Order: sequence, then structure tokens, then C-alpha cells
Amino acid sequence: MSSIESLIKDDIQLPSPPAVAIRILESVKKDDAGYDELAGIISSDPALAAKILKVANSAAYALPQKAESIQKAIAVMGVNALKNIALSFVITKDLQGVSEDGFDFETFWKRSVTAGIAADLFAVLAKRGSDDAFVTGLLQDIGIVIMYLCRPDDYMRVLDEKNVAEEPVNVVEKNIFGFDHQEVGSEILKMWGLPENIYGPIRYHHANGEPTAEHKALADTLIVADKISSVYHGSHGIDKIEDIKQILNVQYGISENEIENLIDSVASRTIEVLSVFEIDPGDMRPYSQILQDANKELGRLNLSYEYLLMKYKDEKERSANLARKLKKRNEELRKMALMDGLTGLYNHRHFQDSMDKEISRATRYSRPLSVIMFDLDHFKKINDSYGHRAGDIVLKQISAKVQEMVRANDIVARYGGEEFVIILPETELKGAAVLAERIRLAVEEMEIAADTHKIKATVSLGVSACLPGEKKASKTDILDAADAAMYNSKNSGRNKLSLAKIK
Ligand code: GH3
Ligand code: MG
Ligand code: MG
Repeated sequence: MSSIESLIKDDIQLPSPPAVAIRILESVKKDDAGYDELAGIISSDPALAAKILKVANSAAYALPQKAESIQKAIAVMGVNALKNIALSFVITKDLQGVSEDGFDFETFWKRSVTAGIAADLFAVLAKRGSDDAFVTGLLQDIGIVIMYLCRPDDYMRVLDEKNVAEEPVNVVEKNIFGFDHQEVGSEILKMWGLPENIYGPIRYHHANGEPTAEHKALADTLIVADKISSVYHGSHGIDKIEDIKQILNVQYGISENEIENLIDSVASRTIEVLSVFEIDPGDMRPYSQILQDANKELGRLNLSYEYLLMKYKDEKERSANLARKLKKRNEELRKMALMDGLTGLYNHRHFQDSMDKEISRATRYSRPLSVIMFDLDHFKKINDSYGHRAGDIVLKQISAKVQEMVRANDIVARYGGEEFVIILPETELKGAAVLAERIRLAVEEMEIAADTHKIKATVSLGVSACLPGEKKASKTDILDAADAAMYNSKNSGRNKLSLAKIK
């Protein structure tokens, strides 16, 4: 429990126990005075008093006569019930807000009010009525807000993981925080001085752990209330109905009809009470209404079945067309990611990937593989004499020429600046040397037209190979050998070809 205390203490954003709540609790502790003092505290906050009267006079409490004043409401409902309504307002008021990271306060409180009403109505139906059912139901998940306010990032992680793992929220909380919202909620309400018959059952509202005998009835009520609330606010709401019917029928002997009425009344009363809490009920409606609407919708769909079928066919064709276009575009994009922008040859990265593949294939099947590397001679001079743009044209034209001369399976890539590499699968050193010499000659013979100039260029080449049956060569071995051979060509006068052999 010490870690919960540090969670609560370490944090600066956490609201302190609302002062009014403390005064309300103090006043009811005194046996004699309770009545007038409580009325006085509440009436000193007119907005609070008005809200309380609105709830007291709502269908949720079904008072025999309208209460016009707080004193009257206390007289009719009793100190305890009124104190609970007051507490629920003062506590929830400080724990509302707008979050930027997606924590949905409004849904949270909608869910909580629904759970409070459900707890209250169920407690009456199951003849385990308690003045505390509403407020306990309302506050059962308060630990969630507290945990979120103290460590928002961690709590958003809880919500994400809960959705991914489809595990109960209290289990995920325990994994991430080391404790769950039942413990936090129970602990903070205790710290705030709320009575044990409220914070006690909240500690066990997820049906795990053993509540003490005196809290068991209310803890069980909370479990049911949570299920009913999730009919309206959970993700697979309607699926939970059967689950609820099963539990209420078997464990509490409540008839199916009564259960359906209960679930309906929870919605209609919640909508009424939400307005007092100034929360928009959204499209919340009683369960039977949801079913009716669904049937209507089904009828409407049947009528226009033919039309829908037609539309569906159109749409299907349209989306197939779209998918084709998308696929083509994706292929283009994928290809573009492999290409060098200037020359249209493969880029360095694709060269490295291809090289890995080709080497492993050559090794596995014991096939030959060669590599030609070549670099333009004195290219800096070409740039300096004719300009960078002309240099680009030279690079493009030589690239196109070389691409034209190789076989379909050969891979020509721009290795860097004015340096190129060709992978030649299924080719031995001798064959690669023949191609390399042809390239040398072809480039030498080219007259490259750029602006008004006719530019001549030459290349120096290096050829290396790994041969079948020899000890396995690595990518670096082959490339280093080709590179060394190429520099040999440079050093022996350029416009030359040198062969290497792997050690
Ligand atoms: P060497 O014969 O020893 O290879 O001499 P070199 O001048 O070709 O080699 P060096 O490495 O000194 O210079 C290469 C030049 O290639 C310098 C660089 O600006 C130029 N270069 C690299 N990439 C491009 C390009 O995309 N376009 C153009 N126009 N020039 C480029
Ligand atoms: Mg060069
Ligand atoms: Mg260079």
C-alpha cells in the first residue's frame, strides 16, 4: 500500500479532498446536530443546493412529495441519503476536465453515473437496499481518474494495452503500476475521510479478492452495476445482456422481465441525472429502444434490398478499380525507393541487398558470380571544364549505355558519385572481363553531346569473382577485390581493365 501512498503524495496535480466534502462528513459524524448543520453547509453553496434538490426530486428517488428546500429533502430522504448525493457532487466536480491526450473524462463520468444508478436500482430490486449504493457505484472507479491525473502517460498506456491484450483493466493496471484502481480508489476515499461502508466495497468491485462479510453485499452490487453500465458504454454492450440475465437469474432469482425493466430504467434515470451533473447523455437510450431502433433499421434495409444490391455492385467495382490503381502506384513507389534519381540505375542500398541475395544463392547452388566496378576518369576535370550540368549528362548517358549492354539478370547500380558497380550472376571472371572490356571500349568511343559540347570520357574498371567450389567468399572480400583491381587500373594509366581473384 505504500506505493499507492507515494503515487498520491508525490503528485502536484491531484486535487486535495474537497473542503466541502470534509465539512459534510464532519457534520454527519455528530449524532445530534447532523441535520441542521448539514443543511446549513449545503445551503451556503446555492449552486450545490440547487443540484441536490434536482436530483432528490428526480425519478431516481421517487419522493412521495416534492422537496422545496434542503431541510425538507433531508427530512424526507434522511441525512445519510442526502449526504451521499452532496458528496457525489463535490467529489466529482473537482475531477472533471479536458485532457489533451485522449483520456475521455465525459465518458468516464457518464459511465460512473450509470453505474451509480444501476447500483441503486439493483440494490432495491435484490432487496439489499442501501443508502450508500448510489454514491458507492458512482465512485467505484474514481481510482482510474486519480491514477490518470498522477501519471497520465502510464495510464494512457494502460488503456492502450487493455485494448490490445483484451485483458481486464485492473489486470493491466497491476502490470504497469503494481496496483489497480480498486486499491487506489478505496485508499484515497479513506484518506479523504469517507466512511468505510463506501471505500470498503470499492476495494473489491471487480470480483477479485475477498471482501469482508459486511462489505460483501455492496461489493456484489457494484459488480452487477458495472456490468449494466457497460451495456450502455462498453464496446460489446449488447452482448453483455445475456451475461447479466444469467447472473441475476441464477444468483438472485430475478425474472427475465424484471431484468429487462431494470436495464431500461437504468438508462432513463441516468439520462435524467446526467443533466443535473451537466453531462450530455449523447445518444444514450434504453436498451429496449435500441432493439426497436435496430429492428426498424432492419425493416428499412429489407425494403430497399434491391437498391442496396445494385449500389453494392457499383461500389465493389469502384473499389476494385481503386485497389488496382493503388497497387500500381505502390509498385511505382516501391521501385522509386530502389532507384538512383539521376541515372535511373539501382541505388547503393538496393545494390547491397541484391549483393547479399546473389552471394547466398551462388554459394547455396555452387554457382559463379562476378562483379565489375568502374569509375569515371578525371571526372572532376569534365565538371570543371563543361560545368556540373554537363557532368550530369555524361553520368546519365554512360549509365544508359552500360544498362543497354548487360543481360536482363545483371544488376547495374550507382555505387556513389561517379562510381558504378555491376553484379553478374552465373558469370565467371573470364566472361565478366569480356563485358568489362566491351564497356571500356564503348565509353571510350562515345561522344556525349551536352549543351554545345561534344564530351569524351573514359572509365577504369576492376573485375572480381567468386568461383564455385572455392571457399566461401564474403561480400566484402569480393567488393574489396574489385575495388583494388579498379585502383590498379587507375594507377596504371586509366582507361584500363584489371582482374582480381579472391584470396
Ligand atoms: P579519378 O580519375 O582519379 O577518378 O579522378 P576524378 O576526378 O574522377 O575523381 P575525384 O574523386 O577526384 O572526383 C570525382 C568528381 O565527381 C568530383 C565530384 O564533384 C564529381 N561528381 C560526383 N557526383 C557527381 C554528380 O552527380 N554530378 C556531377 N556533375 N559530378 C559529380
Ligand atoms: Mg573518377
Ligand atoms: Mg571517384
